[in-house]
Amino acid sequence: MDLLIKNVLPITGDGKTPVDIAVSDGVIRSVGKAPEGFRPDETLEGGGRLCMPALINAHTHMYMSVLRNAADDLPFMTWLFEGVMPRENKMDLDQAYWGSLLSCAEMIRRGCSTFNDMHLFPGAAAKAAMKIGMRAVVNRAVTGPEGGERRIKEMLGEIEEFKGCKNVSFMIAPHAIYTCSTEYLLKLADIAEELSLPVHIHLSESVAEMNDCLRDHGCTPVEYLVKIGFFKNPTLAAHCVQLTETDILLLAEHGVSVVSNPKSNLKLGNGFAPLYQLDKAGVNVCLGTDSAASNNSLNMFSELNYAALIHKGTNGDPTVIPARKAFEMATVNGAKALCIDNLGKLEEGWKADIVLLDTDVPQMMPIRDPFASVVYACDGSETDTVIIDGKVVYKHKEFTTIDTEELYYHIKQITEVI
Ligand SMILES: [Zn+2]
Repeated sequence: MDLLIKNVLPITGDGKTPVDIAVSDGVIRSVGKAPEGFRPDETLEGGGRLCMPALINAHTHMYMSVLRNAADDLPFMTWLFEGVMPRENKMDLDQAYWGSLLSCAEMIRRGCSTFNDMHLFPGAAAKAAMKIGMRAVVNRAVTGPEGGERRIKEMLGEIEEFKGCKNVSFMIAPHAIYTCSTEYLLKLADIAEELSLPVHIHLSESVAEMNDCLRDHGCTPVEYLVKIGFFKNPTLAAHCVQLTETDILLLAEHGVSVVSNPKSNLKLGNGFAPLYQLDKAGVNVCLGTDSAASNNSLNMFSELNYAALIHKGTNGDPTVIPARKAFEMATVNGAKALCIDNLGKLEEGWKADIVLLDTDVPQMMPIRDPFASVVYACDGSETDTVIIDGKVVYKHKEFTTIDTEELYYHIKQITEVI
């Protein structure tokens, strides 16, 4: 399938000079002029819109969008164990599918092509992604030893079920150090090694987790995982809010990627990851939304904005995390953390996950620096068209693959019982 996107302003350009982008079989063939003899199956008139690689949400919990606004303004452990878990334990696969599809729709409307879903119902997230046409990394968050063997069996069954599905990949995800024993964590690291899959874990998210770890193991959560030999696979650690200077060096030394979820961390009163220090130490840092139960939205433009601003304020230095750096965190760094090659840049040979943004809105005028426009001025409502894997899944603010009326009907039904 050949697609030609005409007359767009690339984010890497000067904000004034339009280009055409040629796409063949999901890969960008050229940015500038279409190659000689290029005969597209579809031509999309860009209308002078700003064009950028799609955003990557490197940590979320898809089905939990049906729990949006269900447990707010609560301490973290109360939110988790009393607000969220009793509700999600009542959910079935069908409800999780509609919740996941709702998340997909929200993310696409805000310029996101790829998500990394962790927790229950990875199959529902994978099915929703395939229906709408998103790129999905899914992982079942497992806890143990109690019930741990059953969960591993279910996890392996899901990996088998979706093996070979296009644009769906897996990670192995022990939920957290406070819900998994040492033996269980190591067993999962072994499984990841056997299956050559990366690992995803919640880590150093709250003061309570840090204090409990110091009490139980005499060291920080990061030191504990290093000590037991957990970091032997490519690993993505979510949150990393509570870090010591030694923790930062250990994460860099062990090649661990960190996904920061600024809005969720702030809302739960946990603080925020020291992104500037992590990046400076050489850690691959990316961004996520966490779930709509704690965020309460899945808008990666908003995360981008928070990530760029918070650290200037807390470091007392406006030069830290400049717009281009923040944008890398929301795109190419996310792809690296999820072990997806050639994703997150608007360049020849890279995957064609492309977003067109309206420029005929006040906050996009004038565009002197496209990166600054996207990071500091956009709120995501500018998203006009989204192309994923070379296919137009959202065109001039309309979905091409799903019926939103049907989706909203199901969400309203589920909300009555969950
Ligand atoms: Zn999370």
